Amino acid sequence: MRVAIHWFRRDLRLADNAALTAAAESDRLLPLWIDDPEGEEAGGVGAAGALWLDHSLAALDHRLAQAGSRLVRRSGVAVERLAELVAEFGVAVVHAQRSHEPALQARDREVAQRLAALGVELRLHDGGLLIDPERLLTGGGRAYRVFTPFWRAAVQVWRLPDGQPAPALPPLPEGIPRVEPASAVCEAPWQRRVIGHWQPGEAGALAALERFAENCADYAGRRDLPGDSEGVSRLSPHLHFGEVAPARVVHTVVAAAGEAAEPFLRQLGWREFAAYLLHHYPHTVEQPLDGRFAAMPWRDDGDPLLAAWQQGRTGFPLVDAGMRQLWQTGWMHNRVRMVAASLLVKNLRLPWQLGAAWFRETLVDFDLANNTLGWQWVAGCGADAAPYWRIFNPQRQGERFDPQAVYLNQWLPAPVVGRHPHAARPDAVVDYAASRAEALEIWNRLKEAGDGAQD
Ligand SMILES: Cc1cc2nc3c(=O)[nH]c(=O)nc-3n(C[C@H](O)[C@H](O)[C@H](O)COP(=O)(O)OP(=O)(O)OC[C@H]3O[C@@H](n4cnc5c(N)ncnc54)[C@H](O)[C@@H]3O)c2cc1C
Repeated sequence: MRVAIHWFRRDLRLADNAALTAAAESDRLLPLWIDDPEGEEAGGVGAAGALWLDHSLAALDHRLAQAGSRLVRRSGVAVERLAELVAEFGVAVVHAQRSHEPALQARDREVAQRLAALGVELRLHDGGLLIDPERLLTGGGRAYRVFTPFWRAAVQVWRLPDGQPAPALPPLPEGIPRVEPASAVCEAPWQRRVIGHWQPGEAGALAALERFAENCADYAGRRDLPGDSEGVSRLSPHLHFGEVAPARVVHTVVAAAGEAAEPFLRQLGWREFAAYLLHHYPHTVEQPLDGRFAAMPWRDDGDPLLAAWQQGRTGFPLVDAGMRQLWQTGWMHNRVRMVAASLLVKNLRLPWQLGAAWFRETLVDFDLANNTLGWQWVAGCGADAAPYWRIFNPQRQGERFDPQAVYLNQWLPAPVVGRHPHAARPDAVVDYAASRAEALEIWNRLKEAGDGAQD
């Protein structure tokens, strides 16, 4: 009798899951989740991501129960738990979806070695990304650092497997009791508030995808309007936790919108690019890719400014609305993420790493690769980043992308009035024009020093 484990990680779905489909060919199958303090699935996410994960795992357990199985949960260091389970149930093979983050790949190498010593294979399957970061390099054999050539090359070789239905699942190994699936419990009011905006799990992901597919053809014209709640897909947490396969997203939007899906596919391309960059430049989680920024003289008395930014009290209406949307729902519109991040880094002159850490804690879609790329892009120090002198003006951005102040009125505590709802309030934490000029002066000094050092 052949016993297999399917080790769920960032693939919390049954359909379009090549690893699970392969594992389901065994005689007995143990669907496993490990709460691993050293693993990024649990340890890397902040409070909002952990909340999502709890609900997503409960949804997965329900799905497995409908299919006659259940999710077996263990906690502790993954390699140890796997070794125990392998010995206890006579497991022959462990299937899992391939991870691409450097720390997770290191863990997989360790697991593979340990299992091999026990005569068991760790078999990794594709499915989390469309492009394998290791396989795509420039003609000169180097990693891409600019998005457009990366994406042009990527779409020539991306993997788009056909959809696969959820497999029929073999019974659990003898000795594993069937238990009723438990529901995730929200204990704190903030948890109930945030999760009330979402439906974590595979069914919620597919429903969100179907909804969005109807609007996908209009994405280019609507994606920058933060007050348009259906202009973007809001698939990011579902994609992060693998509740829907990216290939399924591509097939669905192309079927619905044809060539008009291209602008949306390009954004999915940024997700691929982010994972690609993190793979090739793992140090960028903490350090700027552009070394000249290492000498940036950040403000060192910034705690009150950081708190005002986090709590949506900067006096810049668009930024404050965004930070409140984040706090209420665990998500912020991309346009506003850019403007809020720019204010923190360029006008308040606080390190982008502080902003990234706050997003890690509060975003339900927190993703190490996407977040790192997003912050370094705004800060001007990453690959293909916005030039440093591009400093988003929150008032102009608001007037352009939220002209009727719909977004402000959705998220600010009091309705905005007056002819210029997006203008900074008199008590704003910083003067926009003066702080902009100061930032540019500092950058010019850094640039000269950096360019000089490179000569
Ligand atoms: C400072 C900053 C931090 C960010 N942190 C994260 C993060 O932690 N997690 C995260 O998923 N995204 C992050 N983003 C990228 C982007 O804001 C979100 O992916 C997007 O807002 C999610 O909403 P959506 O699913 O409706 O996106 P859509 O516009 O519907 O796009 C579809 C999908 O494409 C991907 N995508 C879109 N834009 C980007 C992008 N710029 N970079 C990478 N992938 C993208 C996402 O997976 C998204 O779900 C960040 C952006 C900035 C500027």
